Amino acid sequence: MEDPLERIRNPDLRQVLRRIRERTGQLELSSRIQQNIQGFRTQKGIYKPAGEEHALWIRQTSRGIYSDEPIRTFPDGSWSYRYRPEAKGGITDMNLPTNRALLKSKEDRTPVGVFVQRSVPGSERIYEILGLAYITDFDGNYFTLQGESIDNVEPSQNRDHIPEFQPFEIDQQKRTSITRAVREMAFTAGVRRLYHERCSLCDLGYSFRGKPIGVEAAHIIPVEDRGTSADLRNGILLCRNHHSLFDSYLWTFDEDYKVTVTEDRDFRKSAEKNHILAIEGKKLPNLPEYSYDLPAQRAIRYRMEKFYSNQK
Ligand SMILES: [Zn+2]
Repeated sequence: MEDPLERIRNPDLRQVLRRIRERTGQLELSSRIQQNIQGFRTQKGIYKPAGEEHALWIRQTSRGIYSDEPIRTFPDGSWSYRYRPEAKGGITDMNLPTNRALLKSKEDRTPVGVFVQRSVPGSERIYEILGLAYITDFDGNYFTLQGESIDNVEPSQNRDHIPEFQPFEIDQQKRTSITRAVREMAFTAGVRRLYHERCSLCDLGYSFRGKPIGVEAAHIIPVEDRGTSADLRNGILLCRNHHSLFDSYLWTFDEDYKVTVTEDRDFRKSAEKNHILAIEGKKLPNLPEYSYDLPAQRAIRYRMEKFYSNQK
């Protein structure tokens, strides 16, 4: 399949968009983004390079009036976000060059980069790099931005259609190592967002200077079994502690998201003070808010089989 970036004729702009894509889901200080992304030092809102007809990126500052729009995340790692056009004197003016550029990007289906600032108490300016997006709609009040998927596929117009879960990687060997690293990053970022940056099992999450600490995206069907990184339904966010216990098959969860812990007596004794025994038999307290983003039943069953075969 053709990479939509190939449609961008100007190689410098293509390069900027590629850099944004390679940072999908990363949290970076604005001072760092400035070093890599054209225009970021001075421009907020919509950035349209001089002489270009399309917008190159969008930067949502947390001081913007409409900065609290929620980001919706889909199983393929794509997302949707609504963005308010630029205004002059408090009134939306679609004749502003920036708004016109974004409408042109919509018309020609050219991707734009999206940066959203985090409001962090007492900290420097940090942005979440959402990645590349297409402008799929303008309803008079908002642009709809739709992010590309983990495999860099343009989002489908029909967001009500959630594709069936594909548990395994197919053409892994065809991918270059850099793409693989970028996919893992996008997978982690998507899972992190779905679980609001807290462990699914103990509901704990720490943040320092705007970045989550100590949480990791675990694969339900493991990577060594070719478990997919292109579908967030093969993921669950865990703290390091509970991730390592999960990887050692000391606990798992069933199709109702209820926690099962190993019967191993040594482990159970050692785990007396751990949260894990208190939650045994209960439902995972922290799960994605939309049911279509929940761990896939097929992945859960695969995991349970592995869990039980490891108990022998
Ligand atoms: Zn935990």
